[in-house]
Amino acid sequence: MASTRFNRVLLKVGGESLIGDRPYGIDPKAAMKVAAQIKAIYVENVEIALVMGGGNIFRGISGSKNGIDRATADYMGMLATVMNALALQDALEKTGVPTRVQSALLMPAVAESFIRRRALRHMQKGRVVILAAGTGVPFVTTDTGASLHALELHADVLMKATKVDGIYDKDPQKQPDARRFKTITFHDAIAMDEVEVMDTAALAMCQENNMPVMVFELFKGDNLVKAVKGESIGTYVSNDTQTEFAE
Ligand code: UDP
Repeated sequence: MASTRFNRVLLKVGGESLIGDRPYGIDPKAAMKVAAQIKAIYVENVEIALVMGGGNIFRGISGSKNGIDRATADYMGMLATVMNALALQDALEKTGVPTRVQSALLMPAVAESFIRRRALRHMQKGRVVILAAGTGVPFVTTDTGASLHALELHADVLMKATKVDGIYDKDPQKQPDARRFKTITFHDAIAMDEVEVMDTAALAMCQENNMPVMVFELFKGDNLVKAVKGESIGTYVSNDTQTEFAE
């Protein structure tokens, strides 16, 4: 049993965390950095299911803008998440963390198929389960995969690790007076149309099923450790809190 506030977490890691200094693709050094962050919570005995994104390689929406059928492009995006999952598996195992990759698209030569009860068993046995190919269906993103998996695997929280340190009232990259929320209700997060925090479908699913969401920056100090200890970092989204700005 972990001594942290959250014993089982669903960690959503965006594909961009694997880019490093490159314009595109996977930088093995960046994968090692992500693995080191994950190891820091693994050693606290937190059970970890990790949903890997694919945006560093391919996003269906961009493919479809360039003329590829949207569903086909989305399947290509899902394949990108499998490549990332294998890269992260390699990095995690090099740091001494046992893992299993489970894919929502059947790919028996490289990954187990996603089987819920098996994923739970892996976590109980101290393996990090890396969930690839999102939901296995097109027209959604890995955020939806993350919320579905967080619910069915009974995670205590969905942690969305990104390159922005939380949810802001305006785009912080374009507007210097943007303010970060410390806490926000699902209702208010969904109503914000200026800032895309997470897929609305994913947020709505978490809202309906009372799955709290934490949005924070992965590569900032020991943010992930602080997050599992329940410290106030990034933005916490739930049905129970008030919407409040950070100091
Ligand atoms: N995708 C999909 N269904 C899913 C998950 C992902 O069709 O359940 C596709 C979609 O095209 C998406 C791409 O895979 O753009 C890569 O995932 P995402 O954009 O969520 O990656 P991230 O932004 O987290 O790196």
